Amino acid sequence: MNSTHPWWFRAARPRFEAFHVGLPAKLGKVSLYRDEGVVLRTHKLGEADRIVTVLTKRTGKIRGVAKGVRRTTSRFGARLEPFTHVDLQLHTGRTLDVVTQAETIRPYGEALVADYPRYTAGSAMLETADRLIMGEKEPALRQFLLLVGGLRALAAAEHEARLVLDAYFLRSLAVAGYAPALQACARCQATAVRAFAIVAGGMVCGNCRPAGAAVPEGETLALMLALLKGDWPAADASLARHRTECSGLVAAYLQWHLEHGIRSLRHVEREPAT
Ligand SMILES: [Zn+2]
Repeated sequence: MNSTHPWWFRAARPRFEAFHVGLPAKLGKVSLYRDEGVVLRTHKLGEADRIVTVLTKRTGKIRGVAKGVRRTTSRFGARLEPFTHVDLQLHTGRTLDVVTQAETIRPYGEALVADYPRYTAGSAMLETADRLIMGEKEPALRQFLLLVGGLRALAAAEHEARLVLDAYFLRSLAVAGYAPALQACARCQATAVRAFAIVAGGMVCGNCRPAGAAVPEGETLALMLALLKGDWPAADASLARHRTECSGLVAAYLQWHLEHGIRSLRHVEREPAT
């Protein structure tokens, strides 16, 4: 025996390590952790491996290597496919963590793949979550809960797929700090709002209205508010033309933030403190 540790230390060690399982890796020397999450996307690595991007409940967005996952004998099987809510165990790696266990909690992909509108809505949710949450291992519990709630609502098919998607877009933007102004002018706070101006941050009054800003119908505005609040009885009762107008405004607003707002925010965060 070359160990200099007394017998009681060696005896206590396994229990001590077990205690660490489940704590985030960044707390220190922890090398193994457990979390649950939704697989956002995967891509191939070498001959048989795959890199999976997962939005987890406690750790935030993580990227991990699933070794041998593309072999037919893989013990992970289809558990690490996009849309799957999985329980994971990972080892902290130098650049990427390594997935050591994966158990399916709910395979949302199975419910969505047979229905094209629901599948495309779900795909848009995964992509938006991936792009809205830029930093890895930064806890994003509210975004995780919104994504799981959105996928569950799509799979349950209780509401129109596009309404579920628009609700997800509005609420995930709000959690990210980009809620559109709907009840007061985004520029001057006046309550008589008139036009939707994406660059201004939502609805604006007649005085603040920039040239070319769309003037949505009142019912469309009410629908956006209902989706943002999660008022489903009101959203389900909306008319098709207001849903179409709402989807157009929400998509344009989201796109602008993904292309401009978020990128510029990242730039601001990179500036050295002066
Ligand atoms: Zn104004």
